[in-house]
Amino acid sequence: MTPFFKEQTLHFLKHYIKKLALLSSINAVDVDLNRKQVVNITYLLSSVVGVISGLVFLSYGWLIESSVHFLGAAVSTTGYFLSIKGYAGSARLLFPFACSTYVTVCSFKFYGTDSHFSWLLIVLSAYSVTGFRVDRGKAQLLVCFFSLLAFAFIQLFAPKTTEYVSIDGRLLIALATFVASASMIVLIAGVVVTKLRKLNEHLRYLAEVDDLTKVYNRRKVLAEAVNVFADAIMTNQRCSFAILDLDHFKRINDQYGHDIGDQVLQRCAEIMSNNIRRHDWVGRYGGEEFVFILPNTRAEEAKSLMESVRIQISDMTIFLRDTDERIHVTTSVGVAEIQDDTVRYEQILARADKALYMAKDAGRNRVMLDFDGAR
Ligand code: GH3
Ligand code: MG
Ligand code: MG
Repeated sequence: MTPFFKEQTLHFLKHYIKKLALLSSINAVDVDLNRKQVVNITYLLSSVVGVISGLVFLSYGWLIESSVHFLGAAVSTTGYFLSIKGYAGSARLLFPFACSTYVTVCSFKFYGTDSHFSWLLIVLSAYSVTGFRVDRGKAQLLVCFFSLLAFAFIQLFAPKTTEYVSIDGRLLIALATFVASASMIVLIAGVVVTKLRKLNEHLRYLAEVDDLTKVYNRRKVLAEAVNVFADAIMTNQRCSFAILDLDHFKRINDQYGHDIGDQVLQRCAEIMSNNIRRHDWVGRYGGEEFVFILPNTRAEEAKSLMESVRIQISDMTIFLRDTDERIHVTTSVGVAEIQDDTVRYEQILARADKALYMAKDAGRNRVMLDFDGAR
């Protein structure tokens, strides 16, 4: 198999396993998702185990024995379909009973206790804590207790060996049981950990990003301002902050409506995000004001960066649907750099704000440094 073909096959398998496991769970941020996935994956894996065992017995010509395994696979597939067709509760409950019955029948009839097949029941413990809701503690405990009971029953009453398995066979079954249990536990844990990571990323996104403009929100950008300021003090480097405000934005809202105003804000924010450098931060300071945190940047350099943002926004045209009208918007920007006597980051912001007001007073559509007025 060529590496390319191998990679494609792996990609194909991964894609379809994911799709199968997710069939009943479309919404990626649904907190219920991992329980459904756990149930789906458990059923899928059980079906595979049942089919493989059935085929092994079939290859020896043992029809009744292979039918027991195929029946197990059929029950698992039914459970899977119950789960994806919306009967999640029944599907969830079916597995512990089906699994215990399957392991008990197989241990008594075919494998005996020496093959350690009953250890497959350990999967039920992982299933109980991940497949049931946290507030269903009783159900979780019940499943755990039930699996323990089945395990003890098998150990106490099942034969040690049976006519079906040789010494080598027992070793093979023990190994297969270990592999099947470990794969299920690893997969179940993987599903839960992946889901938690995604949920965490989503929560972080909600907490840090402004919903309308998709730039950072005030809390996040000011937290970064503190970090950049502290770094600048410790490493004795420069940093600059800039505040950008849309000119006469109220008029746009009044003339074209709030929705168009929102669109203008989005387009402006897009230009801002596209024009900052890798280590810069831009965030929505409030309303139609944005703040830029520019590490390791002197005022003049910050001014020319903001000048380029200002020009691009003033060159931007927003076409209004159904009319020939076009909207143009300009911005005013105030820039300030850290100084030797700066002790708090708010002082830089206050000076940038002062420079912004100077830009407004000087006629708008311009970038000004806080010491421009002193020149
Ligand atoms: P100036 O040039 O002096 O800054 O004038 P301005 O009209 O931009 O400033 P003003 O503070 O008078 O008005 C700001 C407007 O921004 C008022 C408010 O309705 C609007 N605004 C604030 N947030 C949003 C928003 O999320 N969406 C929309 N559409 N408008 C907003
Ligand atoms: Mg404004
Ligand atoms: Mg404003």
